[in-house]
Amino acid sequence: MRAILRGRFVVDSLRGINSDMGVVVDNGIITDVGNFSDMVKNAENGDVREFDGIICPALINAHTHLELSSFRDTQFQHSDFVDWVIKLVNARLSMMSVDVGPDCHRAKREAEESGTGFFVNVGNDFDLNRSLGDNQIFAFEQIGINESSSGKIFAGASEVASVESHVRTALAVHSPYSVSPSLMKSIKLYNNLRGSVTSIHLSETSDELEFVMSGTGRMTDLLNQRVGKWQFNPAGMSPVEYVDSLGLLDNRTLCVHCVFTNEKDLDLMSKRGSAVAVCVRSNRELSGHVPAVENFFQKRLRVLIGTDSRASSPDLDMFSEIAAFYSEFHSVVTPEQVFRSATYDAAQFLGIASTFGSISPGTAAALVYVPFDGRGDEVLEYLAADAQGKTIKVNL
Ligand SMILES: [Zn+2]
Repeated sequence: MRAILRGRFVVDSLRGINSDMGVVVDNGIITDVGNFSDMVKNAENGDVREFDGIICPALINAHTHLELSSFRDTQFQHSDFVDWVIKLVNARLSMMSVDVGPDCHRAKREAEESGTGFFVNVGNDFDLNRSLGDNQIFAFEQIGINESSSGKIFAGASEVASVESHVRTALAVHSPYSVSPSLMKSIKLYNNLRGSVTSIHLSETSDELEFVMSGTGRMTDLLNQRVGKWQFNPAGMSPVEYVDSLGLLDNRTLCVHCVFTNEKDLDLMSKRGSAVAVCVRSNRELSGHVPAVENFFQKRLRVLIGTDSRASSPDLDMFSEIAAFYSEFHSVVTPEQVFRSATYDAAQFLGIASTFGSISPGTAAALVYVPFDGRGDEVLEYLAADAQGKTIKVNL
């Protein structure tokens, strides 16, 4: 079915803000973008649909765990991060795939309805996550701190992940405090051979910092409880330096959180071309700190934005997430950059820019309508700060 969409404003990071632009959509794909008046002269272009506001690309959620959608951020009263993880893992393990499946599908649908077009979805339940559709990178997360079991874990994970699918599938490293060096290296090599992005939770808490540096602190309680018998050789360096020493950091590595990083860490990540996925609402909830986003931009790191899961965030609405991000960092970041981080920059880094993140011929018509009666110079501020709760997926 062919249609011309006409918004008061059509906005993306490549063309900026345009007030007389039409978008031709044919069978879910954008086939033309251009001057609206010129388009309507061509009768073959199909029905015109008018939108009294903004049309923009659906946002890209660079970090979430859809399989945790049965939980609530208010559910796990916790004394610290380790306490939260233990409560969450116990709750998750008490439920079967069949129990959490409907909530995953519902949460994803709701996120899409509110303006998310693509997800980097980290999870452990292979079949469930692969059933969630093809507008995701399913990052099949691996955990295993003991070197002795890393070969077996990798063999099992790579075997199932390699089964042909229309769903983009990569392996993911949970974190430097829960994955052994050889398992990290194997995962990275596997992903690089396939051109896939490697996601890793990195420098999320001060406990992680202490553990990687010296092998002590609260993370040992977590490992004692979850693993029992474990070994870890203290690295004597920061988590970022540690994973870099193992060859983990390059321009296909998505470092999630990076709340506790120093200048040396950021220089290293910048040099390697790695990106950061910032989940500010989750960070406030779990560590009480937020990352130094100003420094990320100063170091020219690629900054992406994610919601994290319902277990640490109030919703999976990316417009709520970018509003929280902009509210926290408005003194150091422009609304234009926030919008770009959640659309084009994310798409480019993830290798999906030919399909998502902009309004260009050939991309999927994953579009959002935002009712808006303001001026053109107010559009980006509105999208970054005020659009949450008002955004509507354009159904074609
Ligand atoms: Zn996460």
